[in-house]
Amino acid sequence: MTIQENFSLLSYNTFGVKVNARYFAVVQSLEDLQSAILFAKENNLPLLFLGGGSNILFAQDFAGLVVQLNLKGIAIVSQGEDEVLISAQAGENWHEFVQYCLRNNYGGLENLSLIPGNVGTSPIQNIGAYGVEIKDVFHSCTVLHLSTFALETFTLPQCNFGYRDSVFKNVGKGKYVIMEVTYRLTKNNHAIRVDYGAIQNELAKMGVGTPPSIQEVSRAVVAIRESKLPNPKLIGNAGSFFKNPTVDIQFFNDLKLRFPTISGYANEKGVKIAAGWLIEQAGWKGKQIGNVACHHLQALVIINKTGRASGKEIYDFSEKIIQSVKEKFSIVLEREVNIV
Ligand SMILES: Cc1cc2nc3c(=O)[nH]c(=O)nc-3n(C[C@H](O)[C@H](O)[C@H](O)COP(=O)(O)OP(=O)(O)OC[C@H]3O[C@@H](n4cnc5c(N)ncnc54)[C@H](O)[C@@H]3O)c2cc1C
Repeated sequence: MTIQENFSLLSYNTFGVKVNARYFAVVQSLEDLQSAILFAKENNLPLLFLGGGSNILFAQDFAGLVVQLNLKGIAIVSQGEDEVLISAQAGENWHEFVQYCLRNNYGGLENLSLIPGNVGTSPIQNIGAYGVEIKDVFHSCTVLHLSTFALETFTLPQCNFGYRDSVFKNVGKGKYVIMEVTYRLTKNNHAIRVDYGAIQNELAKMGVGTPPSIQEVSRAVVAIRESKLPNPKLIGNAGSFFKNPTVDIQFFNDLKLRFPTISGYANEKGVKIAAGWLIEQAGWKGKQIGNVACHHLQALVIINKTGRASGKEIYDFSEKIIQSVKEKFSIVLEREVNIV
């Protein structure tokens, strides 16, 4: 493993912002990882782990060591007639892993097709799309404790998964690095989840029969995502910049009187409102300031419109959105993207 100095992170973040890490290392084994952590400790450096860089905004240069996890490998842990436990190392690309599972007819991940990033990051914010979250198929993950170097296992209940949330964003933050994740997938009788209208419409367009196969669901999800989300390889972005807020029922009913077209989905904590709708109503959809803009098709996505935006410019733009949504709706949006 080589530790490089003053390293450009331009191609390591999907926003495509030009920032430098004081030190940078790619790790391919547990030994590499331990050496990198020791280097940071000995030199009193802040440490940052990086997967695909698709959920991170570098608002400034990073004055410590960035460790890119390139641990590779997929293995069957156990299997029976109907189920398989399959594990993947943190550095496996998420979509390629999903495709691997689909080629083997393992069901459960198809709705999560084409989410950028790596396997090791999937539990951190409990990635989700089209009615499925990683918690629905998660079995366990192996983590390295940063202080003790002990390898520990986190099971489903220990991860405390919530909406774009987990133990790793709360009490476990900064304590562990995720090395491997194991998923529980189906081999037969797949649970097909197509209750999202968009999937059904896409499947109908594709002319597939009922029920669709998991591979067909994946193709439909890929087609929808390609049609409405900007490809980070072409235009810098990190997907949804904000979380969908949940408000209490009374507050929602009051809002509904003032904004009759608002829609919400009841959940255990109250009513979840689409942040994209709030941002659009506040006049931000398609709006550009300097090098940064709100995407013209999906207001939840902030883009590096000219390719020349700095992280600080993107951060300031997001701050303006938060302020204007707060003024109009008295709701404070929370960022989904990790700010460094
Ligand atoms: C176009 C687009 C669409 C998207 N759509 C979705 C979507 O539908 N659903 C969804 O949930 N997300 C979506 N995202 C967000 C993103 O893809 C996910 O959050 C993904 O899991 C991030 O993975 P990553 O490897 O790129 O994470 P990174 O950005 O590299 O890291 C994210 C955070 O995790 C930390 N980290 C990284 N690896 C580890 C590790 N092994 N152990 C401990 N900490 C680690 C980092 O320090 C950082 O704080 C989208 C992003 C884009 C660009």
